[in-house]
Amino acid sequence: MGKWKVAVDRDACIGDGICASLCPDVFELDDEGKSVVTKEIIEDDLYDCVKEAVDSCPVSCITLEEA
Ligand code: SF4
Repeated sequence: MGKWKVAVDRDACIGDGICASLCPDVFELDDEGKSVVTKEIIEDDLYDCVKEAVDSCPVSCITLEEA
């Protein structure tokens, strides 16, 4: 079982909420209307939805790397 670390570059985030829609267990929009990672270390069960968020983010500001 793998573990991955998820991060968002909040300076680049435009707050469209795509990541939070695709993967609400990992991303939320905060009071500033930007994405915040609520679960920084994920395992296999959340990998696919986070990967989809990475691929769908219009400004490519989500990173996913091996933890
Ligand atoms: S998909 Fe990207 S730009 Fe949109 S809210 Fe998430 S991190 Fe921000």
